[in-house]
Amino acid sequence: MPTTCSSAILRNFVSPFDATVVQLLQAAGAQVVGKSNCDEFGMGSLNTYSIYGPVVNPYQAPTSPESWAVRERRSAGGSSGGSAAAVAAGMCDIALATDTGGSIRLPASYCGVVGLKPSYGIVSRWGVVSYADSLDCVGVLARTAQDVKKAFDVLNVYDDKDPTASRPDVRRRASEAVQKSHWNAEDGLTGLRIGVPQEYFPAELLQSTLTPVRRMLENLASRGAAIIPVSLPSTRFALSAYYVISSAEASSNMARYDGIQFGSYVEPPAGTNKAKTSNVYAYTRAAGFGPEVQRRILLGTYALTADAFDNYFLQAQRVRKLVRADFNRVFSVPNVLFSTPSLPSDAGVHVLLHPSTIRTAPRLPLTANQTRCNNEDTLDAYVQDVLTVPASLAGLPAMSIPAGLGEDGWPVGVSIVGQWGCDDMVLEVGSLCAQLPGC
Ligand code: GLN
Repeated sequence: MPTTCSSAILRNFVSPFDATVVQLLQAAGAQVVGKSNCDEFGMGSLNTYSIYGPVVNPYQAPTSPESWAVRERRSAGGSSGGSAAAVAAGMCDIALATDTGGSIRLPASYCGVVGLKPSYGIVSRWGVVSYADSLDCVGVLARTAQDVKKAFDVLNVYDDKDPTASRPDVRRRASEAVQKSHWNAEDGLTGLRIGVPQEYFPAELLQSTLTPVRRMLENLASRGAAIIPVSLPSTRFALSAYYVISSAEASSNMARYDGIQFGSYVEPPAGTNKAKTSNVYAYTRAAGFGPEVQRRILLGTYALTADAFDNYFLQAQRVRKLVRADFNRVFSVPNVLFSTPSLPSDAGVHVLLHPSTIRTAPRLPLTANQTRCNNEDTLDAYVQDVLTVPASLAGLPAMSIPAGLGEDGWPVGVSIVGQWGCDDMVLEVGSLCAQLPGC
């Protein structure tokens, strides 16, 4: 099957080898039944930036009398909208996807399925097309947390072909730290300390999506979990920092699509001075990249210029450190990557819980090929990621699970976030939450 990244520039590209994650799943007996639509090179939040057109959210309430074909067309979320939609529509049991700033959790939330973004470096990226290397994670979508875990257990291995993969000794230290965390999934919710970060209820959050989140918190408390308000003060800077860092890395990654090394070559019009190398690239890139990818290349290249570097790129890196420090301050399990001190056994929280998104799935543009291009819509799409990017900047495991329906009858997701390396804990808590009434 071709590997197009939903981009015209790779329309005819067939990869010469399979990614490690595909090899692992096949070796474990999985059958690959297809590839899914996504935003071009993973850049987007609504899966509308694709040469194949937008992904329509297939969610349908079990009680809905309407046929799927006449339902209003809502976004499946992005960028991995195709993977979430395929799982939600029952076309497959699990789907792989990447999450750089929320691309698994956002579509999971909009489509009413489970989506796990593992800790950064835990699942191999060998053979996966890069968007922003310091943030990209491969993860899993499925209808149940159990199915996500089944696939994750196969993928959770060290791969020496991936230079960013966490080494076995680091993985071992992380699992030793988790064992000292004084919570055991066998005890159910008793003794589990769940932090609710107050900054994850921003002005943009639609109040109508809050009822399922509140109900889940009440259910958790009534079953023995301690619900603890916490503060992550740098959250409000995370979205801007994310878009600077991810665009800077993307601008570098996109440089390889020049029509010579990679990408379909587009002949410049007659009379163009081909002795000028940039002319040779320009026509290929103008024809091959869609509007959002072009915008990210411009934003990223600008952030890396000598004039803007200090004010944008360096500042964003500083914010990233602050975001990470916020998380390390609240988790009871230490971060083995940064040798943070352990908190006393009864201090700190095991996991955080917050709404995955600020709203339910937005309506799609009216015509199938209309993509959102004006500045207001672009910013609107960027804001969708406000609750998912902090865990990405810190490289933490995060899983969105369905929490019930919003007042408009569409799914609302809740995210469970854990300390780096606590992927199993996130899966266990997510699975307990998914069994609560109303989910
Ligand atoms: N919406 C975010 C972006 O466009 C996240 C995308 C992703 O996780 N791949 O960068």
